Amino acid sequence: MYTAGRRQLVELLLKHGRPASVPELLKNRARLTQSSTYRNLADLEAVGIIHKVAGSDDHARYELNEDLIGHHHHLICDKCGSIDDFEVGSSTERELERVLQSAAKSARFVVTGHRLDAIGVCANCQKNSARTAR
Ligand SMILES: [Zn+2]
Ligand SMILES: [Zn+2]
Repeated sequence: MYTAGRRQLVELLLKHGRPASVPELLKNRARLTQSSTYRNLADLEAVGIIHKVAGSDDHARYELNEDLIGHHHHLICDKCGSIDDFEVGSSTERELERVLQSAAKSARFVVTGHRLDAIGVCANCQKNSARTAR
């Protein structure tokens, strides 16, 4: 059942525009309780509307599935754990598929899709480390 609470979470995730943790979803929203948020996220995950995004820390982050928000990749910061979405052009997507398919050939595996996350240091953390190095 698509309750008001679940609909609100879907709208929040859409507005957030990148994977969101529970504290991020609850920020400035006094009327959302933590327990109902966790319950609604679990329900939305069970029916395949959202999924967890694996990051570089222990915080669970959620985003809407690709059939709702489109195919994309992630930039995961190793220092602060932030996750951003990014997209590449269709020719790069085709090149990725080609490389993956040829790599999987020896295993007689047929590639039908991919997930690609880049790990690194976000612009914010680069700025902060430049400041402390001075
Ligand atoms: Zn960072
Ligand atoms: Zn994403």
